[in-house]
Amino acid sequence: DASIRLSMRMVEYTQLQRLLIVRDISRLIRLEQVRRDFVANVSHELRTPLTVIHGYLSAIDADDHPELAELLGEMSRQSERMQRIVEDLLTLSRLESQQTSTQERVPVAALLQTLIREAEALSAGRHHIELHDNTQLDLLGSPKELHSAFSNLVSNAVRYTPAGGTIALRFDGDRQRGACFSVSDTGPGIAAEHIPRITERFYRVSNSRSRETGGTGLGLAIVKHALALHSAQLDIRSELGKGTQFSCVFDPQHVAERQPSATT
Ligand code: ADP
Repeated sequence: DASIRLSMRMVEYTQLQRLLIVRDISRLIRLEQVRRDFVANVSHELRTPLTVIHGYLSAIDADDHPELAELLGEMSRQSERMQRIVEDLLTLSRLESQQTSTQERVPVAALLQTLIREAEALSAGRHHIELHDNTQLDLLGSPKELHSAFSNLVSNAVRYTPAGGTIALRFDGDRQRGACFSVSDTGPGIAAEHIPRITERFYRVSNSRSRETGGTGLGLAIVKHALALHSAQLDIRSELGKGTQFSCVFDPQHVAERQPSATT
């Protein structure tokens, strides 16, 4: 009798434990939702005043106020930086609120050309920029989110690589195994201990270079979330003093043969 009572107690106890765990998890999910909404709302509210401030600052002709030129320039740079942070926070909130991406055809040849143009504009002739488009494949997903992910990797490579370095964009893969877009650079590299945390929001190895070159500290968090929507992995290989390679690895479900019109 005593042993039956004991085992019934134990069953009740396990059920209670399960109930507590379920309640705990749903509380965490609710808190995470509140955090996400808060960030999205604050970013949205900051957008308009920042646009107004930046607009007025740009309208002031520094030639009329030579004594204020330096001050106006700095205010303008800082308001642009705040605008970039707000836009990145909004992008991140949008990505976090989505479960999956759309499954549109993303013409890779055109996307790579756009990325090369962006890299050249940002580099302004300071780097060697290479393109190796080794497949006849397109991607399936959201063109906007994939562009945003790839473009963040390209802009990091240009921003962190000193003048004279090389930046290479590659697209490899096949229909059976999937595809891989990678950006490699000959920049400073990232120490192994930083790599596991590098995609966290606002995590930076060196603050100064990031700020100097217009970084918001949100780029790799955006990359990670945009790739997760496509069930893609971000692979990071780096060697200090040699350079870094970021690869986005897509499974075969997100890959399609390139259409003839897209290759011409
Ligand atoms: P940021 O706006 O600071 O560049 P990111 O999220 O894009 O923010 O990157 C996080 C940090 O990772 C950067 O501050 C930098 O320290 C490091 N990092 C990113 N890309 C590279 C790269 N190609 N080479 C060296 N370090 C990099």
